[in-house]
Formats: sequence, structure tokens, C-alpha cells
Amino acid sequence: MDRFRVEVIQATPSPQQVIYAAMHQDYSEEFVWDVSQLPDEAKCGEIIIKQLLAGERGHYGPLEHPQITLACGFFPHSVMQQARTHRVSVSFDVQSARYTGLRVIEAAQAKRDLEDVFYLRPVGNYSDRQGKKYFYSPEQRQKDLDWCGEAARRYEQDMIAGMAEEHARGKLPFDYRQHFIVSFNVRSLMHFLDLRGKRDAQLEIQQLCELILPHFEAWVPAISTWYKSTRLGKARLAP
Ligand SMILES: Cc1cc2nc3c(=O)[nH]c(=O)nc-3n(C[C@H](O)[C@H](O)[C@H](O)COP(=O)(O)OP(=O)(O)OC[C@H]3O[C@@H](n4cnc5c(N)ncnc54)[C@H](O)[C@@H]3O)c2cc1C
Repeated sequence: MDRFRVEVIQATPSPQQVIYAAMHQDYSEEFVWDVSQLPDEAKCGEIIIKQLLAGERGHYGPLEHPQITLACGFFPHSVMQQARTHRVSVSFDVQSARYTGLRVIEAAQAKRDLEDVFYLRPVGNYSDRQGKKYFYSPEQRQKDLDWCGEAARRYEQDMIAGMAEEHARGKLPFDYRQHFIVSFNVRSLMHFLDLRGKRDAQLEIQQLCELILPHFEAWVPAISTWYKSTRLGKARLAP
């Protein structure tokens, strides 16, 4: 999948137990901390599905406690821009083109692969949301890559002449690659996957969701199994 990467920086340990504890406090007479032993992680997962999620009961609050932080690498600027439209319980830190730009200069000097810095779609057949179909040919792609190389060289010249990064970046092709860190809770992550994993979302942000999914599965296995069977790809919105 191109050069895109998603790695886990940190995630709440035993997240299904955390959700269980939050849920359990809702209906327990006693202070949940004093419960001698919570059910194990897998059992908590089962109970969460049964008590909170099955039948679309709408009890999503307990899912907001566990948090996961992901490092997302080599995505085009457009993906970061789309991802950042999500505001609720989602936090971002994005590589800034005001403070970085050396990689563009290195690409201009052929010290770094141009395609590490700029994203172009692979050769292939595409369509847009209105159904327009076209073929992105190897020749067209090569021309576009040449254009990226030219832009990198112009950027380098500006930097040599003393221009600020925030000014020089204006001439870069829109889909320069940009790394970012994003944190979700379980609920906001599912909301993101609902909106950005569906087929009419842009291809590259769908690919981000595909790369997030294995981490989601490893982290909250019971919830991800429920999610995949009831929501994934179904464009069901706002859990
Ligand atoms: C396929 C696709 C195409 C898109 N195209 C465009 C586009 O062309 N231009 C553009 O600008 N945006 C576009 N968007 C972004 C879209 O309009 C939303 O801004 C974005 O998806 C964030 O969704 P959200 O509000 O559900 O997410 P979040 O901000 O994470 O919010 C989560 C939920 O919290 C609630 N909520 C959040 N904020 C409010 C609020 N202020 N008032 C009431 N309830 C709130 C809602 O229930 C919301 O679903 C597109 C999104 C998709 C998926």
C-alpha cells in the first residue's frame, strides 16, 4: 500500500476492562474500585458487546475512556486535511511545513527519492464521486513526477535565496507527504472508521483506515469483531 504506515505509539492497556469498569460503575451500588477482581479482558469484551453494543442501544459513553495514539507516516497532505475535519475526541499533531522542508531540498538534490516526499497515485483506472472514469497512464504519471521534481528545485532555490519555509511551500504540489500523530478513544475511532473507511471517501484515507484496522483488532478484539460485522463499510454514521 504505497509507502503509507500506521504504527501504535501507545494505547491504554486492558481497554476492555477499562470500558467494563466504567459501565459497571453505572449500575453498581458499590464503588467499582473496591470490586475484588474484574472479569478478564476477553470476558469484559463479551459483556461489553452484550450490554452496551448489541441491539444498537446507544450506550457509547464507556467506550470513550481507553485511548490509542497512532503515528501515521507518508500520507498525502489531502489525507491529513480530511482527517482533521474530525473534531470530537480526536487530537492531532502534524508535521509542519513551516518548520520542515529539508526533505524537499534533498529530493531536489536527488539525495532522497522524490516519491518519499510527494505522493502520486499509482498508474491505474480511476473514477470520481460523480462516476467519471479515466486511466492514469505511466506517461502521465511520469510527467507529474517531473513536475514534482521541478517544484522541489524551485523550492530549493527559494530557500537558498533566504525565503521562509512557510512562504516557499506555496509552490509545492498539493499532495506533499506529511507525517502526523493522532489519538482517538474507542468511540471516536469507530466514528472515524465509519466516515473515512466507506467507499465514497477518498481512496487514500480509506487506506489509512485499512492500516488502522489491524491495530484496532489487536487492541480491542471483541469490539472490533462487533464493529466489523455490524458497521464497517456500511456507512452507518455517528455511534
Ligand atoms: C466522504 C466525505 C466527504 C466530505 N467532503 C467535504 C467537503 O467537501 N468539504 C468540507 O468542508 N468537508 C467535507 N467533509 C467533512 C464533513 O463535512 C465533516 O466535517 C467531517 O466528516 C467531520 O464529521 P463529524 O462532524 O461527524 O466528526 P467529528 O467532528 O468527530 O464529530 C463527531 C460527532 O460529534 C457531533 N458533533 C461534532 N461537532 C458538532 C457540532 N458543532 N454540532 C453538533 N454536533 C456536533 C456529531 O454527531 C458528529 O458526527 C467530508 C466528509 C466525508 C466523510
